[in-house]
Amino acid sequence: LFVTFEGGEGAGKSTQIQLLAQALRARGMTVLTTREPGGSKGAEAVRHVLLSGAAEPYGIRMEAILFAAARSDHVEQVIRPALAAGSVVLCDRFMDSSRVYQGITGNLEQPFIEALERVAVNGVMPDCTVIFDLPAAIGLERARKRAAGPNEQPDRFEKEELQTHEKRREAFLDIAEREPLRCRVVDATRTQETIAADVLAIIEPLLPI
Ligand code: C5P
Repeated sequence: LFVTFEGGEGAGKSTQIQLLAQALRARGMTVLTTREPGGSKGAEAVRHVLLSGAAEPYGIRMEAILFAAARSDHVEQVIRPALAAGSVVLCDRFMDSSRVYQGITGNLEQPFIEALERVAVNGVMPDCTVIFDLPAAIGLERARKRAAGPNEQPDRFEKEELQTHEKRREAFLDIAEREPLRCRVVDATRTQETIAADVLAIIEPLLPI
């Protein structure tokens, strides 16, 4: 079972992935938690280039291809083997982030994004995508608090305008509307416990017996 978690900054994805992994492991399931960009050795190397802004001078098209290169390595080195071994794979961001960040707010044309997606996922599509929805202002406030912590650096994506973040929120909701079988939207403004219960209720019926 391959589950991806999507949404804007400060939506609480990483916390919810850990809570879900705990709940599934308590039931004896083998769970792999991973994240993008990154998740494999090659992809982590590319993550550094992307999040440090080192690729920025070369344009969004170059960045999109780097995201796809990282995804391809992550899929082939980590996700596909884990799924083949019977693990539940929980991934923090996947191809929907590319559709939204590089496609919608990066203004790259859809056929280009679709072509990169096909090459990168190479048939490994999420069985379920949980989209964490919240007003951009709330998410950004949370992300800022987190960035103010001792170990975190605010990355360049978090310095953008509120309007850009709202556009991404709409784009994620748009994907959910277009692919209702794969996507489920969760109201991420509520308490961690409430959201965790919701996420578990979404995943439970999909679990192998
Ligand atoms: O998951 P997290 O919010 O830490 O994501 C790291 C950063 O990478 C985010 O700030 C996001 O804006 C960016 N990103 C992106 N395109 C992707 C995936 C992530 O711009 N396809």
